[in-house]
Amino acid sequence: MAEPARLLDTIDTRVFTPADAAAFEAEYAGVPAPAMLAALLTGELAGRIAAVSSFGAESAVLLHMVAAADPDVPVIFTNTQKMFGDTLAYRDALAERLGLTDLRVYRPDPRVLRQRDAAGTRWSYDPDGCCAIRKVEPLARALAGFPAWISGRKGFQAGTRTALPRFEAEAGRLKINPLADWDKAALDAYFAAHDLPRHPLEAQGYPSIGCAPCTSPVRPGEDPRAGRWRGFDKVECGIHGGGWDPQI
Ligand code: SF4
Repeated sequence: MAEPARLLDTIDTRVFTPADAAAFEAEYAGVPAPAMLAALLTGELAGRIAAVSSFGAESAVLLHMVAAADPDVPVIFTNTQKMFGDTLAYRDALAERLGLTDLRVYRPDPRVLRQRDAAGTRWSYDPDGCCAIRKVEPLARALAGFPAWISGRKGFQAGTRTALPRFEAEAGRLKINPLADWDKAALDAYFAAHDLPRHPLEAQGYPSIGCAPCTSPVRPGEDPRAGRWRGFDKVECGIHGGGWDPQI
């Protein structure tokens, strides 16, 4: 899976505002996530939207909905080059199983890595900077041609994600969180109903799975994302709510 060339003819210049996001929120209030996605992916956002997935513990639910609506929707995966091998294998197996036809893999810019993380250890002393060059910048590059994208965030995952809306406008781009109001039981039920495969690390105590150096098992009673960046005052990777800062 080679990194695709940027397609200039797909670039759409529409700018989404918070008022647009609120209008979408009202329009789709009460519409179940699968039906909402089907309407959007085959309607006004057809050909103008990508799904972003980490192929983590619960990613199969969103990807199944996307594939059911339109398997040709581009699915963006950022390989930080610090991923678990299990995640890469799961990504390929799940993409095959769901029939995704346009899985796009983006990587950090090797020139940036040479300048700012030559030893590959920036995660250990500056995880914000590491996420910026390994996640945020590649994703910004990947989304350059899309005015809208789909995220798998869920409101229950962490204190920072409660009251998550289904539609947001961020830097002029529409971000859709179809699973914003889904809880663990609903996700488990969807996995069972569609016989979806689980990420192999989930059974080993990883309810939230990111890069290998920054993900540890979660103990009973802990927040599902407690195993991410354990020991650091950090709960998000920076792709939500922030943009790429070339000074980092
Ligand atoms: S999760 Fe860790 S290894 Fe991955 S990009 Fe962020 S700081 Fe770096």
